[in-house]
Amino acid sequence: MASLAKACTADVVRVMACLLADCQACLNSLQRRSSQNAAASMNVLSQLRRTLSHWLLALAAVSRMEAAEGVRATVPSPAAGAPFAFTRLVAHWAEYGGADYVDFVADAQPELAQVGFYGAHFWSLAHTPQFSGYPAHFPVRGLAEQGAWFENLNKRLHKLDVKVVGHFNVEFLVGDPDGPEGPRGFFKFYRDLWDEALLGPKPVADPLELLEKNADGSPISQSGYGIGGMREYWACLRNPAWQTILKAWVRHGLRRGVDGFITNYFYRHNCLCRHCQAGFRRHLRQRFTPAELKSKFGIVDLERHVFTEIVSWHPAAETTPLRLEMLRFSQLSNQEVFHEVFVKYARSLKPDAIAAQWNHIGNFSQIDGDERCMLPDSAWHSGLSYVWYSTGDMANRSDLKAGQLGEATLQARYLRGAMAGGPFTLGKYEGTRIRAAIAELAANGGAPMGFYTKFTDPVARREIVRYYQFLRRHDSLYHKSRAYAEARLLFPRQAIQRGDVSGLQEFLRMGRTMLDAHVLFDIAPDDSPASLKRDGAPRIVLEVKGKGAEPLTKLSAKRSRFTAPPTVRVSASRPALDEHEIDLHFVNYDRAEPAPEANGKPAVGRGIEDEKPRPVDGVQADLALPAKTTVASVEFIAPELADPQPLIFTVERGRARFTLPQFLVYGVARVRLR
Ligand SMILES: [Zn+2]
Repeated sequence: MASLAKACTADVVRVMACLLADCQACLNSLQRRSSQNAAASMNVLSQLRRTLSHWLLALAAVSRMEAAEGVRATVPSPAAGAPFAFTRLVAHWAEYGGADYVDFVADAQPELAQVGFYGAHFWSLAHTPQFSGYPAHFPVRGLAEQGAWFENLNKRLHKLDVKVVGHFNVEFLVGDPDGPEGPRGFFKFYRDLWDEALLGPKPVADPLELLEKNADGSPISQSGYGIGGMREYWACLRNPAWQTILKAWVRHGLRRGVDGFITNYFYRHNCLCRHCQAGFRRHLRQRFTPAELKSKFGIVDLERHVFTEIVSWHPAAETTPLRLEMLRFSQLSNQEVFHEVFVKYARSLKPDAIAAQWNHIGNFSQIDGDERCMLPDSAWHSGLSYVWYSTGDMANRSDLKAGQLGEATLQARYLRGAMAGGPFTLGKYEGTRIRAAIAELAANGGAPMGFYTKFTDPVARREIVRYYQFLRRHDSLYHKSRAYAEARLLFPRQAIQRGDVSGLQEFLRMGRTMLDAHVLFDIAPDDSPASLKRDGAPRIVLEVKGKGAEPLTKLSAKRSRFTAPPTVRVSASRPALDEHEIDLHFVNYDRAEPAPEANGKPAVGRGIEDEKPRPVDGVQADLALPAKTTVASVEFIAPELADPQPLIFTVERGRARFTLPQFLVYGVARVRLR
């Protein structure tokens, strides 16, 4: 009975939403007609509204009944076989062990929880005395005990209709191969705790065979984190024995009930192991003729050539054609392993397994950063369910007087273009401006939010829940939404892949100039065949060519204009499969900033108590309408508003003009067209 009521409620709510929206459209069009006709029509409208009010009361009663029965409304799952898309995510490495974590997820209702550990961090640390510390903060000690704990957590999250994606460190090992106490960490697991019934036979007897190697054959290692005084090593992804271990861990994780993995520590160092030597030779053989190898790189006998370095990331100023090939090989071979283990193998066990990657972009680091900077456009989306990109420390503090909003708007727009609309999120390391971090991603096609979803702070928790519930309520705007743009800025990926990063600063300058001028633009990589031809692509395409080009002079004089303070960013999107709506997103970064740090640097802030947003009022939109359309209605929605607010607008010579009401951090003007 409850499920029938729930299904009916969902259907009726959908119909009602359309009806109410159309009513608003009627109201607005009536206002422009003669007063007599309008008065008559208004009567009809009033009657209709009264009827709707009765329905609403009845529905509210059903909803209350559902709430009393503990029934939670869900967002419909995508059709079977359709790529998984989502717009609300929570991610935690810590504090997920308390009872309040699941309560928080139940209240915020994300579509996806990134939680749990199934790769090298799990197998290195869950059995050690350091189990409860950084990075994984395991609630219990022991491989079997912690594994069972995650299995139980996965069940509880699934009951909330939330997908669970586990963190999967693909190669970063913590431990000591030997010592007074024998092996520790990963090496203890490998020698003494490997359970053949669970993981199958060990692929090699000596775990040192698995590691990335220096030229002298010693393992590459460091003591960076100092967990329990143990050193750190890296397994080599190109080693087939290591791939066997990754597959065993994937199998174990899927049995524990995760929906897939986000792979992190997706690196390659200057590894000179035999697999890297052979792999790099193969890479060169496939890309160059013997004559080219000789003339370009001085390699006369590839089959016998032993490389003294096979670097990965390196400073762009120190690149050479051969080092660039080494970086390309690093990224392509990492990608092959990702595809083999986390796409092909994982999906042979679970056909809809989620395969995601955790990468790093900072302020558009390329050659010396970004795990995917050398990948061709086609490899960007192959099998990848979603991508996480860390901006690190570059976008989590504002200096408004200096014009720094502490934003990652350009990174978000770039990823939206690079992922061809597929899901992405940003790791902003932002624990203070919670609302701005959520709004920034929502406004630019991403899925809020990466680190840190601080639910243990009651004020932050309340705002996260408010914002996530807002996104959930208006999911039709966000789910698989498409960027709406009047201009396109091309990201100079072709030059970067030739080792030339000189265009990056110009790209950033052009992007910043257009953001400040509130231009509706999107970003696409310039090696994407779709970047110029994609359906709905704007006619004005801006390329990075030389220095000093003034992007604003190249734009149409008829473009949309917005009157807003420089602390407001404007983005636009269209809902999936709906050409009758343009959604204008406004993110307000204005705030009372915390005092700078002792060294004069802008402060990050202690938490949401230092977000202190200042509302903005009087933002005006002057929207250039698509050809042959006019406006049916404009309504304003914001997380702090209980109900959508109809806006008065004018339409004249293909332009719609309206003024937004005051809002705090985020607001959306839904422009319905006809
Ligand atoms: Zn190697």
